[in-house]
Amino acid sequence: MTDKGGPAASQRLFFALWPPSELATALSGIAAAATRRFGGQPSRRESLHLTLAFLGDVPFDAMPALLAAARQVAAPPFHLQIDRLGFWRHNCLLWAGCAPTPALQTLAAELGSALAAAGQPLPERQRAFAPHLTLARKLPAATSAAEVASHPCTGLPAWPCTRFVLVASQLSAAGSVYRPLAEFPLSA
Ligand code: NAP
Repeated sequence: MTDKGGPAASQRLFFALWPPSELATALSGIAAAATRRFGGQPSRRESLHLTLAFLGDVPFDAMPALLAAARQVAAPPFHLQIDRLGFWRHNCLLWAGCAPTPALQTLAAELGSALAAAGQPLPERQRAFAPHLTLARKLPAATSAAEVASHPCTGLPAWPCTRFVLVASQLSAAGSVYRPLAEFPLSA
């Protein structure tokens, strides 16, 4: 956040998994086809990600503790297989996802615990962890969730998750701009 005329005191942050280029390209193709069919505004290919923890505005002086907490997360690498689409009516959002994966749940829980222990609890308005990649926004509210769920989403390459990233998000009328700040390898 920036006070009028003053330097920014905080930045909007989230932790995420970022898909490899080949998977992002394939998902972007699905987003384009789905929005041609259902409407809505596809996410940019380079913005596609799976959020592990949304922090909201974090003061700059909290960054050292935040980075130290993320470095302490001990979770092994794993694979995800994105194989399904869904539509959330409450925010008119089209998403891609996968079967519930214990390794992914564990990573998100470990990260949440590490942040809380470091005095950086997730904001109260944090949504329950629902792993997804936002493929498009602003679909018509009348979109059929059943039709979205049956839209083709097969044959995607497996996603080797070997690291997670801390990202700054700058909101603007033209859409959010994400800036990677740090990455954290997963290791057994
Ligand atoms: P953001 O709000 O900074 O969110 C960054 C990431 O954190 C996204 O993955 C988002 O999930 C997730 N997140 C946000 N709030 C959360 C919460 N309370 N609990 C858990 N996870 C949370 O940036 P953004 O999502 O890209 O866009 C913010 C706003 O800008 C939205 O209202 C959107 O409609 C609008 N907008 C975005 C775009 C775009 O291209 N990204 C374009 C036009 C308008 P979700 O992806 O599920 O939201």
